[in-house]
Amino acid sequence: MITIRNDWTLAEISDIYHSPLLDLIYRAASIHRENNAYSEVQVSSLVSIKTGGCKEDCSYCPQAARYQTDVAVEPLMSVEKVLQLAEAAQAKGASRLCLGAAWREVRDNRDFDRVLEMVSQVNDMGMEVCCTLGMLTYEQARKLKEAGCFAYNHNIDTSSENYHNIISTRTFDDRLNTLAHVRQAKLSVCCGGIVGLGETDDDRIKMLHTLSTMDKHPDSVPINALVAVKGTPLENNERVTIDVMLRMIATARILMPASMVRLSAGRNEMSLAEQALCFMAGANSIFAGEKLLTTPNPAFDQDMQMFQLLGLTPRKAFKENTEHQMA
Ligand code: SF4
Repeated sequence: MITIRNDWTLAEISDIYHSPLLDLIYRAASIHRENNAYSEVQVSSLVSIKTGGCKEDCSYCPQAARYQTDVAVEPLMSVEKVLQLAEAAQAKGASRLCLGAAWREVRDNRDFDRVLEMVSQVNDMGMEVCCTLGMLTYEQARKLKEAGCFAYNHNIDTSSENYHNIISTRTFDDRLNTLAHVRQAKLSVCCGGIVGLGETDDDRIKMLHTLSTMDKHPDSVPINALVAVKGTPLENNERVTIDVMLRMIATARILMPASMVRLSAGRNEMSLAEQALCFMAGANSIFAGEKLLTTPNPAFDQDMQMFQLLGLTPRKAFKENTEHQMA
């Protein structure tokens, strides 16, 4: 029986996060094995349906219009193209398709109507559809849900205290408001953050505190390692060491035992052994496909070989893991 707590204190989280690494991994692995089908890993594929030219100034993001990066601006993809990519991803074993648009917020216009059409058609293929489209209202979240959208991704990125150092064009509270709309519309909530932004351990702990003390834990918690991209303000940031990723994943697993913890950006830079430790520590979801929006990611076939070696299997679509969480 899973005990879900939403009253974690910063001191408790700090103790967990700073515990000896192998003890931390062992505790997280035990909780994962008690509560989840630990050998199942959700495989999601991410499609950038509208790339670059974003008005926001997220300092890690090559898609912000104000930074000079190699990302070419592309208009909203056609529904046909998205379906082609969805079919290819499904054939390779992906059960979830995430549609990402470099928008500040969703506007009620023909582009949004097209996204609703994409959502509806990909859902009809039997894939879980997740969208990440920026800020949205409750009404827009409801329309996505009606169209067949399963989940909405909206990361808090870092601690509320560090947020303004990373993004100045919106606030931490803007993020929380959108998340409230998503939850209200009964979409599955995907919300996590990034390490390697120049944050401290305290920022990481505070970010995990925000996530794990939400009224309902996010159903998915992506943990990203910054992929420093030339032309962005964080281009010279050093890659985080594996122990940071492991501490984040293991702590997230302990705090939010029923959530999917996703080993997200930065996986391309990890060895198989490092990824294996992340799965051991409770990660049970990955992004697969050669690109993660605009940055490189391991290829599907390579991931399937890794799964075989580690005895992991891809999780089927719509397998409800969130009965502990969802209303
Ligand atoms: S992370 Fe999203 S909102 Fe921020 S600049 Fe990139 S595309 Fe825009």
